[in-house]
Amino acid sequence: MPALGYAAKWYKGNTHVHTVICGHADSTPEFVAQWYHDRGYNFLVLSEHNHFIDPSIIKLKGDVRDDFLLVPGEEITGPIHFTAMNISRLVPWQFKDKNRSRVMQNYVDETEKAGGTNILNHPIYSRTVQVHEITPVKNLYMFELYNAHPGVRNFGTAHLPTTEQLWDALLEKGMTMWGVSSDDAHKLQKWGEKENNPGRGWVMVKSDDLTSDAITKAMLRGDFYSSSGVMLNKLVRSSSKIEISVNEDETACELASEFLFGRPVRKGKPGTFIEFTGPGGEVVKAVEGLSASCEAKGAYLRAKVTHRVKTEDGKLLEYYAWSQPVFTDGR
Ligand SMILES: [Zn+2]
Ligand SMILES: [Zn+2]
Repeated sequence: MPALGYAAKWYKGNTHVHTVICGHADSTPEFVAQWYHDRGYNFLVLSEHNHFIDPSIIKLKGDVRDDFLLVPGEEITGPIHFTAMNISRLVPWQFKDKNRSRVMQNYVDETEKAGGTNILNHPIYSRTVQVHEITPVKNLYMFELYNAHPGVRNFGTAHLPTTEQLWDALLEKGMTMWGVSSDDAHKLQKWGEKENNPGRGWVMVKSDDLTSDAITKAMLRGDFYSSSGVMLNKLVRSSSKIEISVNEDETACELASEFLFGRPVRKGKPGTFIEFTGPGGEVVKAVEGLSASCEAKGAYLRAKVTHRVKTEDGKLLEYYAWSQPVFTDGR
């Protein structure tokens, strides 16, 4: 894994959101971009269904921060949904084939021709995308590990895997796959826990520059982590080791957000827990506390922070941060 650049900074971004253009979301591209701008995000992909929104036509109001970037994108929407980011034009979505690996490969190839890269979106949704369908796809390096749309089953069901189980299966098959967290928000006019609002899933990208190319390249290197509330102080991924520590103040600040809701769970004691997972989804080390490190023994290692809080009315809520994996084969 290449060392992170000396001047690198962490940038907060969301790769997936919708606008009135798709017909089933409630806010204009300008309103959506302004919302993210005004809440301290550094970048946003306006990922409309089969529609390219040119960032140069979006005019923000007031004092526009120079550390806010619209990364051009689209949500390729066919039998499977893909975010295409850092594209120069609309990517075609009409390709048809019964074989879903070929459909995904077409999306990747067409996105590359438009200068961009992809994220496989909400894989455990409608017809779940299977491991054997994903593994043949070349040059696909990212998928949505966490999608904050209330209808998306990130944590599986009695009959469906969790996205983490899917991730471990892909990593075990030798894929280089990074996990992305996103909003997939459609509603910014009506707010509530059950509403599909923004501000609930994001990535923190470590990059030298805030440009579409630099952010995309950093994500393709795995120089980012995904969050549903937990913020990190330190994340060092070397060739076979992960060092991680939680930023308590920034996490508290995120959790105080009126837009963010934790995942309700039945069991567990409140606190911060760090787990390191390797092949087979096996937890190789589990620590209670704000920092930990772990050496990879198997083919890969990834870290997850769970921050569990008990509310005044006795509910248990979980918030997470997920590191990207390290690989011991020198990748
Ligand atoms: Zn979608
Ligand atoms: Zn979407």
